[in-house]
Amino acid sequence: MTALGERIAALIASEGPISVAQFMTLALHDRESGYYATRDPLGAAGDFVTAPEVSQMFGELIGLWIAQTWIDQGKPDRPLLVELGPGRGTLMADALRALKLVPEFREALDVVLVEASPVLERAQEDLLRNSDVAIRSVASFDDVPRNRPLFLIANEFFDALPIRQFVQTERGWCERMVSVDADGALAFALSPVPLPAGQVPASRDGAPPGGVYEMSAGGESIVEEIAHGIARDGGAALIIDYGYDKPGFGETLQAVAGHRFAGVLEAPGTRDLSAHVDFAALGDAAMRGGASVCGPVEQGALLVALGIVERAEKLARRHSSGSRWTGHLSEAPMVRGQLDRLILPDQMGTLFKALAIVPKSASTPPGF
Ligand code: SAH
Repeated sequence: MTALGERIAALIASEGPISVAQFMTLALHDRESGYYATRDPLGAAGDFVTAPEVSQMFGELIGLWIAQTWIDQGKPDRPLLVELGPGRGTLMADALRALKLVPEFREALDVVLVEASPVLERAQEDLLRNSDVAIRSVASFDDVPRNRPLFLIANEFFDALPIRQFVQTERGWCERMVSVDADGALAFALSPVPLPAGQVPASRDGAPPGGVYEMSAGGESIVEEIAHGIARDGGAALIIDYGYDKPGFGETLQAVAGHRFAGVLEAPGTRDLSAHVDFAALGDAAMRGGASVCGPVEQGALLVALGIVERAEKLARRHSSGSRWTGHLSEAPMVRGQLDRLILPDQMGTLFKALAIVPKSASTPPGF
């Protein structure tokens, strides 16, 4: 076990089992040894690859999507562009470059990056240092200024937030906890006491024995806050992640290291932990916040509607040898590969979904 694993086991031995959410918080964000606190997990040499790291096209199209929603809402003054969990800053760099096409928006913007990891905050600073746009970093969404039109992007942020798990038993829904077994190793254990009736949404009624309900209280409350701000001050949010649009009974918490699945409780702090995003729950939270919800739509369909194929053809022309260019993407295999990865159903095209949040008075945003 890792040193962080030993510390978690000691905590459980003295204070009793902890929830899966508490375990995730410690494993991901412990200041000394947490996964995000100590490393850059992205890219080929890291543990996973995200859409902005696959291709510049992703951030470019999202930047232009945001600008279109700003125009559709009558170009409100003092817009704030917020990104949750910006990773290496790649999406923001690509978005800001594409936004040179909409200078009026770009010049009016202040950018706020919400980042918990000091390592990734440094990577974002390095990449965005030379930008002529005002950019600052905060550690939590609570620190984002209020009372300004809120344009917000979150790619693969919500899957990283802690979830609690509840298992359907004969006694009712019992929380799955992290405990220690007879050998002192971390192990899952069910709480003997079921949840009081009414605490699990009606959509989870009829779960089979052993069915699992996963809940991200933190994710829902951030979305409610975002929606509240957008309903009050205008703006738009685009949340993209892998997840499901109808409530299911499967468990989705997973650990990934070096691009492979690994044990969730083994080696805390060295593996990425994430869970599928429950888009129905996030949509309900946004409605509670008083905003309008569009989608979710599949990532592939959204990107195609926003013009990714045309953008790929332009880039392909640049990457091909020019004189022999006949207009076929197959002549630029690198760009073709990036496009396929982002939009095809067997790649990121359907598992990843996008949800938009806009004021009730706003028109439906592009691609929804
Ligand atoms: N959006 C980026 C990175 C995704 S990885 C991309 O698509 O490449 C998840 C990101 O969310 C990382 O930047 C991570 O440090 C950040 N993060 C995870 N939990 C967070 C939290 N509770 N508060 C703020 N940032 C968090």
